[in-house]
Amino acid sequence: MAESTLLDSNLLVAKALARAGVDRMFGVVGIPVTSLANRAVAMGIRFIAFHNEQSAGYAASAYGYLTGLPGILLTVSGPGCVHGLAGLSNAAVNGWPMVMISGSCDQKDFGRGDFQELDQIAAVKPFVKFSVKAKHITEIPNSVFSVIDHARSGRPGGCYLDIPSDVLHQTVTESEANKLLDDAESGRKIDSIRNVGNDEIAKAISLIRKAERPLIVFGKGAAIARVEGELKEFVEKTGIPFLPTPMGKGLLPDCHELAATAARSLAIGKCDVAVVVGARLNWLLHFGEPPKWSKDVKFILVDIDEGEIELRKPYLGLVGDAKRTLKVLNKEIKDDPFCLGRSHPWVEAITNKAKENVSRMEAQLAKDVVPFNFLTPMRIIRDAIIALGSPAPILVSEGANTMDVGRSVLVQMEPRTRLDAGTWGTMGVGLGYCIAAAVASPDRLVVAVEGDSGFGFSAMEVETLVRYQLAVVVIVFNNGGVYGGDRRNPEEITGPFKDDPAPTSFVPGAAYHVLIEAFGGKGYLVGTPDELKSALTESFSARKPAVINVTIDPYAGAESGRMQHKN
Ligand code: ADP
Repeated sequence: MAESTLLDSNLLVAKALARAGVDRMFGVVGIPVTSLANRAVAMGIRFIAFHNEQSAGYAASAYGYLTGLPGILLTVSGPGCVHGLAGLSNAAVNGWPMVMISGSCDQKDFGRGDFQELDQIAAVKPFVKFSVKAKHITEIPNSVFSVIDHARSGRPGGCYLDIPSDVLHQTVTESEANKLLDDAESGRKIDSIRNVGNDEIAKAISLIRKAERPLIVFGKGAAIARVEGELKEFVEKTGIPFLPTPMGKGLLPDCHELAATAARSLAIGKCDVAVVVGARLNWLLHFGEPPKWSKDVKFILVDIDEGEIELRKPYLGLVGDAKRTLKVLNKEIKDDPFCLGRSHPWVEAITNKAKENVSRMEAQLAKDVVPFNFLTPMRIIRDAIIALGSPAPILVSEGANTMDVGRSVLVQMEPRTRLDAGTWGTMGVGLGYCIAAAVASPDRLVVAVEGDSGFGFSAMEVETLVRYQLAVVVIVFNNGGVYGGDRRNPEEITGPFKDDPAPTSFVPGAAYHVLIEAFGGKGYLVGTPDELKSALTESFSARKPAVINVTIDPYAGAESGRMQHKN
């Protein structure tokens, strides 16, 4: 380019993103951001184009979780931004790094009823850690770096960059652009991470040593911190049983002899000291309160977010990055080692209970029940996944019964290989997560096991799977509706619309497998163990987009899965 060559904001955004290390983007193009997407592609960024910003947003949030780099969502103005809020809110509640970039209406026409006019900065406010509107092209590089840096600092989360359409059309010379980029880059402020003090470390070690029934709990914050190596060392040096949260599963293999997953109630109900690493004591962990936990349990919380420690008021809070904190804990233990050992009464109680529960579950799983309940196909899927070995596939799971049963039956052997409805219990994340996982980890197969209701939220994205030829197999547990179709007592249904389908029901026997065939993907309809086994063998080895439509008995499973008390 000659010195006087002008470049517009679309290219400047793309250049800033590329400098910040962004290599993938998700979104839906249209006025005024189509050129921005094209410029990003020209800068070497892969742009995955979706049908709906909601799925693209879920993809961006999961991409952030899987890679540690903020996932980028690009949307059009107004309604595009509103659809994108689903993804942004999902990132906020899960604590995943993500940036939404939206075009917005012309600044001079704002307030006069412009095309897709919306105060987007106000709209995103509940869901972001930080937001900025670039009011002039010169503000772009700084704005891009700021949203990316905020999204990944401290507890990760969502950030928002607003670029009005008039700004997208502004230009600067190439040398001005380079200077703007250089200045913004050198002015980047990355938060320093606090180290846990020696006194706190000593207190933690002394508490752990004195504990009679210690437990280590870890969650998706530990997965973000990539602390698996340090966790393994910590668990094996101390001999303390561990319990992963649903997405913490896989940081240490589920088959580890100290895994307390199958003895969860005993582990959390009886432990006297719980070291909780990167997991909030929220609804998923019963708020750390009785009756699930003992009232005398002493929590040691390891969390990067000081606010989290202030909120939970644990016995001891270790504020800092989990990886660094566990490194120091391991080092301290090394100087004066201790290990509970297999014959320690607590370890023995946990392992015996786990064995007992596993054999009870296996007895249930061993039966071939046709028409399918949830257990039989889940066992067949589990065995097919285990047979794949390493690299283990990334498992995407959603639905009420499908996700609940899947969590107990499916096995996680490697870190960050499970994505599910998460902290916000978001349904409809499946296809977006599948696409993010396939893009983030092309060496891994992606297997989604989801209910027909969860699948339906974003089923059109199977076209996106086929378009990009992603190695994704979507297994739909089809029981004809939310929780399994119409379960109402006919006597209680009255009124002029009593003959309408139940609010919980879909078309029975829906041919979801045909949907993907419309785009050239592979579909399977299965209802017996042999049919399912053969579909899994073929689709897993093909590593091409496929949908396996599994017919499930509509009377199997419970309403609201395991959360009936909340419905
Ligand atoms: P889960 O759903 O698996 O229980 P949560 O999302 O509730 O996990 O909790 C994750 C926690 O991890 C959050 O409180 C977050 O602040 C924390 N966290 C995130 N990154 C890190 C990190 N690098 N080190 C320590 N804690 C972290």
